[in-house]
Amino acid sequence: MSNTQVQEQKKERWISADRRPVVIAGPCSAETEEQVIETAKRLKATKKMDIFRAGIWKPRTRPNSFEGVGVTGLPWMKRVKDEVGLPTTVEVANAKHVELCLAFDIDILWIGARTTVNPFAVQEIAEALRGVDIPIMVKNPINPDLALWMGGIERLSAVGLKEIGAIHRGFSNLGEKFYRNRPQWQIALEFMRKMPEIPIYCDPSHICGRRDILQEVGQKAMDLDFNGLMIETHIDPDNAWSDANQQITPETFGTMITDMVLREGYEDNPVLQSKLDYMRQEINHIDDELLNLLSNRMKVVRDIGEYKKENNITILQQKRWNEILEKAIKLAAEREMNTEFIIKYINAVHQESINQQEEIFKAKK
Ligand code: PEP
Ligand code: MN
Repeated sequence: MSNTQVQEQKKERWISADRRPVVIAGPCSAETEEQVIETAKRLKATKKMDIFRAGIWKPRTRPNSFEGVGVTGLPWMKRVKDEVGLPTTVEVANAKHVELCLAFDIDILWIGARTTVNPFAVQEIAEALRGVDIPIMVKNPINPDLALWMGGIERLSAVGLKEIGAIHRGFSNLGEKFYRNRPQWQIALEFMRKMPEIPIYCDPSHICGRRDILQEVGQKAMDLDFNGLMIETHIDPDNAWSDANQQITPETFGTMITDMVLREGYEDNPVLQSKLDYMRQEINHIDDELLNLLSNRMKVVRDIGEYKKENNITILQQKRWNEILEKAIKLAAEREMNTEFIIKYINAVHQESINQQEEIFKAKK
């Protein structure tokens, strides 16, 4: 395939809102030329991916881990593009990386989570790309800071880059066992709401840090209307030089994508739309009732507040609060509702009741 064809293919596929999902796959790190080429060929054979990834410079959390093959790996990526016919993407962390990637004709760049945290580094990358027309993706910073993530995108947009994407790879959290990086989906959803024009990909590999829950996290991202996925794949995952626990073979990857259920948006389907609208009416109605009831509850709370004030009774009576909580937990269980949710809900209502009564206690008269 000629470079122009790859270029056109990339334009057509990249960040295209018309086609979901766009799938990026490839090893965590480029290790050897054979490993890179074989992974790419076997991935291409699955027909389930669009863009080939590999880390060339690896920002590792602690020293003495494998830090990437460096510039040596770039000609391997060029072979993936020219011989296997896949567009390529590489992580860049500074201006030098950008310069080398451009020199070796890498199609798409991405900024890693440890770089997004640093506005100086992102700005340096942005400056190196001024006037260059190349797609670039920004992973969320390792800390759950939405503004920092958006700031990275704004810096790239400010130098004139047009094709910018985001990658949700979860947020680090001390002591977390289940996920390597907690997904905190609400942050990604808030990102979508605030930057609806930026396509967003999910990287289940770095969220999970393990293989057994990759599929379910990838599926969740699809159900949340992400534009695509980035998944680490290796020809011999157990012996990978980095992130061995989370990588899967190209064939396992192929099955995983095949088994995913891709639910469609409903905007263009009038039947789905009217059915959903109908069900949403019901939700709106219930929400109105809940709000009315809550407002009635707060009125009673304020009356009780007045009474406590007149009679010099403390706002919080532990015994009464325990009673409320226990009753709610019991009711929640009977109605098959999530206990954790109900505790959160009742705590929020209780806190607001205390606030209301405190206002009354503070008032002059
Ligand atoms: C990677 O994609 O290999 C990587 C280093 O990821 P992150 O920046 O999300 O940690
Ligand atoms: Mn990795």
